[in-house]
Amino acid sequence: MHPVKLIKVVPDNQLSALSWQQQLSQAITDPAQLLQTLNLKSEDFDHYTPATQQFSLKVPHAYINKMQVGNPRDPLLLQVMAQSQEMLQAEGYVKDPVGDLEANKSPGLLHKYNGRVLLITTGACAVHCRYCFRRHFPYQQQQAGREQWADALTYIQNDSSIKEVILSGGDPLVLSDNKLNHLISLLEAIPHLSRLRIHSRLPVVLPDRITSSLVDLLANSRFNVCMVIHANHSNEIALAEKSALKKLKQAGIHLLNQAVLLKGVNDSLKKQVNLSEALYDAGVLPYYLHLLDPVQGAAHFDVELTQALGLITQLQNNLPGFLVPKLVREIAGETSKTPANEL
Ligand code: SF4
Repeated sequence: MHPVKLIKVVPDNQLSALSWQQQLSQAITDPAQLLQTLNLKSEDFDHYTPATQQFSLKVPHAYINKMQVGNPRDPLLLQVMAQSQEMLQAEGYVKDPVGDLEANKSPGLLHKYNGRVLLITTGACAVHCRYCFRRHFPYQQQQAGREQWADALTYIQNDSSIKEVILSGGDPLVLSDNKLNHLISLLEAIPHLSRLRIHSRLPVVLPDRITSSLVDLLANSRFNVCMVIHANHSNEIALAEKSALKKLKQAGIHLLNQAVLLKGVNDSLKKQVNLSEALYDAGVLPYYLHLLDPVQGAAHFDVELTQALGLITQLQNNLPGFLVPKLVREIAGETSKTPANEL
């Protein structure tokens, strides 16, 4: 193995002197650097290289700073660090587990559920989550770049049953404010649309993305705007994230969370209680807890259905109902998410 250049964890106060775009461009993409930054040895994660060749590693410093140095089982590290198990073939694990390609109606537009469509605005993310159900998605062909928005917009224009557009990706908040503004204005010109939903992991992996100009842009939209953040563990919601989320909340943006139930990351009562409470403190309501989508490369994160159902029962016994997320599975071809107790 080649010697690795030593890098230092960028302290939080130095990070906030950088723009979110600079922070994004400085995200770590070399697994050896990530391990060295966290004072870990390559032996802590054996043979990870083939997995990174299949799905590259990417993690910004703001996220790394919330990991525990020296802990190879850190729940945030496990979400982003490539592992040899990703290359094992597991029965039932496929490249497109939720039927995205079937639901593709126009470049970058997925129409799965009544009344709402999903726009794949970009293939880029600020972080690469190893369990991602789109880790094999052919973004090159599917993302709706500016030139392709026209087709997607025509599709939406021609179907007055569509009330809501969901901006997804990749992560829509890696787009510049100018691009987002342009896209949102085009959508606002379609009279039958009333809701805009943004799914993003940036509020918890790169909180400086929540700039005043982004908040203003969303607050001034004619749409009723909802942001669904993706936090899986309470350690993801520290001071900077709370303050970013509070800015959105104060601007009237509805905030919900969807998490994925992940073995070794958040599969205990204590971790789920902590997550729900941290979310509520930050002004966010738990919405969905997803059973893992069976995407090739992620089987080592799977939590058995019976264990997951038991966990929800325990949560119901320990938290008020509004802090208990709905446990669901997304099944290709179904017209909505399926509650886990109906599986
Ligand atoms: S941010 Fe979302 S889309 Fe991007 S890799 Fe993570 S789970 Fe997948």
